[in-house]
Amino acid sequence: MRFVTFQQGDTGARPGVVVDDRVIDLTSVAPDLLSLIQMGPEGLQAAKRRAENAEGAVPLSEVKLLAPIPRPRKNIMCVGMNYVAHAYESARARGRPETLPPHPVFFTKAVTTVNHPEAAVPFDASVSEQIDWEVELAVVLGRTGKDIPEAEALNHVWGYTIVNDVSARDLQDLHQQFFKGKSLDGSCPMGPMIVTADEVGDPHNLRLSLRVNGETMQDSNTSDLVFNIPTLLAVLSRGMTLEAGDILATGTPSGVGMGRTPPTYLRPGDVMEAEIEKIGVLRNRVGA
Ligand code: MG
Repeated sequence: MRFVTFQQGDTGARPGVVVDDRVIDLTSVAPDLLSLIQMGPEGLQAAKRRAENAEGAVPLSEVKLLAPIPRPRKNIMCVGMNYVAHAYESARARGRPETLPPHPVFFTKAVTTVNHPEAAVPFDASVSEQIDWEVELAVVLGRTGKDIPEAEALNHVWGYTIVNDVSARDLQDLHQQFFKGKSLDGSCPMGPMIVTADEVGDPHNLRLSLRVNGETMQDSNTSDLVFNIPTLLAVLSRGMTLEAGDILATGTPSGVGMGRTPPTYLRPGDVMEAEIEKIGVLRNRVGA
């Protein structure tokens, strides 16, 4: 199933399920998508029953999609340097030896980074002049767990969505840490929907790409992940509870602006389209 958070006219945000390009309001099941995810299998069953009775369904073209989880309960968890070619291009850009991290490199983005499909990503040259793109497959957890064994990990996944891990490279370098450069307001476009794990099937064979103004910058496949999703969840959950509704962005492939010769960064008016097979296209303009 495909889940969205949507607005119709001037109503507030509502959870919905998409069937044949129509949205079915799930407000009768849960007040928002995060609550529905936290209901576990019961929530999915209720959504399924509601989807079978498509009464009152609205064409997707008549609603405004928001980030599926507009306000996560905690920071969006991320993985750095998790595609071989991207790890090498990052190292080259910083004049460091081309090596792969021996363990996953985790960091987070503040909850205030979450941004909506088709929304503008704020741009302020006095804050950063090196705003870069990063298409990523994001995992949405459906089950709380700690010390999750690799063999069990995929059973904890509720679904998948697209995240564009927009990054201020100058701030990353200046502060020598990911957090600030990754946490500017609106720097985490998310969506356009969450597709449930059963509908995605194998998450390690999805083409993912990113275009800027129609030009392909990133084009790879999740089969190239250095640390796959079960490994990431097993390592991250060691001694640390992961909760239903938590979001983990699994890293970006090569082709970011920082890695190009010469480096290329986003300017106001540029349009980014992050696309992942079986999920969709997440489009955002760079705003002034
Ligand atoms: Mg990233």
